[in-house]
Amino acid sequence: MKFGGTSVADAERVRRAAGRIVQAKEEGCRVVAVLSARGKTTDALVSMAYEVSERPQPREMDMLLSTGERISCALAAMVINDLGHEAISLTGSQAGIVTDNSHTKARILDVRADRINAALEDGKIVLVAGFQGVSTDADVTTLGRGGSDTTAVALAAALGADACEIYTDVAGVFSADPRIVPEARKLGFVSFEEMLEMSASGAKVLQLRSVEYARNHGVPIHCRSSFEDQPGTWVLSEEETMERPLVTAVTHSTEEARVTLTGVPDEPGVAGRVMTALAEANVNVDMIIQNEPETEGREADMSFTVPRDDLPGADDALAALRAELGIADVATDARMGKVSLVGAGMRSYPGVAAKAFSVLGDAGINIEMISTSPIKISVVVREDDVAEAVRALHTAFQLGADAVRPEDPRGIHRPTVAS
Ligand code: ADP
Ligand code: ASP
Ligand code: MG
Repeated sequence: MKFGGTSVADAERVRRAAGRIVQAKEEGCRVVAVLSARGKTTDALVSMAYEVSERPQPREMDMLLSTGERISCALAAMVINDLGHEAISLTGSQAGIVTDNSHTKARILDVRADRINAALEDGKIVLVAGFQGVSTDADVTTLGRGGSDTTAVALAAALGADACEIYTDVAGVFSADPRIVPEARKLGFVSFEEMLEMSASGAKVLQLRSVEYARNHGVPIHCRSSFEDQPGTWVLSEEETMERPLVTAVTHSTEEARVTLTGVPDEPGVAGRVMTALAEANVNVDMIIQNEPETEGREADMSFTVPRDDLPGADDALAALRAELGIADVATDARMGKVSLVGAGMRSYPGVAAKAFSVLGDAGINIEMISTSPIKISVVVREDDVAEAVRALHTAFQLGADAVRPEDPRGIHRPTVAS
């Protein structure tokens, strides 16, 4: 069971989450619960760092950020102990979450669950601080924003759990962010493939890496509300989901930036060197467009998008390379957004892109860049146009309440209860 920040934001909510954990235990489950930092704690810790330093060292950032989830776990353990059950809280390191050394974006390499297994064996409820681990150099690491989801899935895989329940502040995965589209529909099922595309294109309800991990290890995810006891959304393999709607969801991100290189020498290997420099600076490049010059030997233009937070890193990496390669100009635009349509049914139906672009055109929204995969179409638009683009597409593809997608027929809260 994983509880997000809003779900443990105040004393009352910590008690409510603890109550749910205890209830699962009393139903006969062995329970490991992963908690996130309370409310906006992680944001506050990030601000604190920038109050004292312009470029905080990633290692120290991890020491700081990892404290948020420890607070939540200790508090929940206190409540559970008061409720008459035995609970033990563990840091990521104590829980055996071993990661690589890339501070603030670490990847889980191994989960050594002996200590958790021993505590479960003793009948204890185990609370694990999400979003963190210990590197192979024995330093504290964090897993990137939203990383508690990944902690939970990795533990579910390592412990052979029946499912990973992600308790959050919405009732499941919706056909669009319900905060932007109030008539968005809760989906009964989503395939791993669709959810990967949704998370990669901005639906932050599940961190991208948690979905990758769940798919690779076959962990079913049940994403559901912390506040009401309804079934949420199951994320499962494609064979287990039934419907293949043309379009399942429209997702968005308002945290993109665009970098444009003009006057790039038109020689073999240049694009590779640009991308290598960015990769070495740990910058995630998303869409890439390169315009080949009409005349051989003339200069080319290259544009790509990066997460806005990676822009300073991209600037630094490109400044060094610019002189070396003789690139004429590097321009950046930090106020870009991205809107995507995701649906497994797109594979076999042409025409989705044509309709999507027409809908955006009719709404007067300019498309700056486009990229596609077999089950996704993404467009980069100005940040200010994002919300309207999401609503226009959601309406045009009829993703709202009268969409023909059946709810989860199983209607159960937990796939099986350990006996
Ligand atoms: P938690 O703190 O529980 O980890 P997050 O804030 O990380 O929660 O993720 C939940 C939020 O994701 C919701 O409040 C919602 O605004 C947002 N969200 C974006 N897209 C979607 C979507 N398609 N379905 C559900 N929620 C979405
Ligand atoms: N507290 C961390 C964050 O805000 C991790 C998480 O919530 O999953 O990103
Ligand atoms: Mg989250």
